Amino acid sequence: MVPCQRCGATLDPSARSCPYCGTTTAHAYALDQQREAQAFHAQQHAQASARARAEQEIVKQARIGLIVTALGFFICCLPVSMAGLALSVRAKMNARRYQLIAPPTSTLGLVLGIFGTLAVMALWVNYIFFVESKEERRAELDRRAAMLSLTKETACEIVKERLEDEGYKTDPNVFSPTCNGALERRSDRATLEGVSFDIPGKQKVTITACFARGQRWEVVELSEDGTCGLARADAGAKVAEPVPVDAAPSASARSIPRPKRR
Ligand SMILES: [Zn+2]
Repeated sequence: MVPCQRCGATLDPSARSCPYCGTTTAHAYALDQQREAQAFHAQQHAQASARARAEQEIVKQARIGLIVTALGFFICCLPVSMAGLALSVRAKMNARRYQLIAPPTSTLGLVLGIFGTLAVMALWVNYIFFVESKEERRAELDRRAAMLSLTKETACEIVKERLEDEGYKTDPNVFSPTCNGALERRSDRATLEGVSFDIPGKQKVTITACFARGQRWEVVELSEDGTCGLARADAGAKVAEPVPVDAAPSASARSIPRPKRR
């Protein structure tokens, strides 16, 4: 039995308050404090384990983010780079939420992700400019090829265009047609001698380009033996049937090794 702290009445030791004056007993205080302490401890424990789980999760996220951004960077794939970037950013944001230090892998992933994204975008921009400049070049050549007069420079460009269309590599290190010979013009026909170019994997080839003018100057034959079928036909026109202007390229044009189509 314990006495009430206020009125002195005798109370049961397990009583939480005095039935006479209503005063809360010391026992009840002690119980409340104990319960509070337990609740606080449980909360602390729960927070600590949540933090530990979050930390593990963040480390995992950051690692996956780094792997994905590295992959995106090396295969130059924009969606992969961006996905990796998002993972790295998420790992960093989660670390901030739990007031943890973000793992270094998340920073590395972030840098690689940004770099990979920018690199792919730069490639695209470069490609777009490349295509545009090529189209501009072609339009300019079209204009020059449509003129009545044919200069050696234009003739050489037309040959280059034709070789490009045939699928020869346009890498200047591998494929570099040079026009060293003379241009000979007779009304709507022309011959450009000494056109040399490299065929990848083969030796240098020197040909004679044969031109005819319809809507514009076009290569009608790439002759390896130096003579143009049309010119030969012209020369023999008095005794033989003339060959039509828009005749198909002769067999000799087809005898030049064809490149592999990409
Ligand atoms: Zn009392």
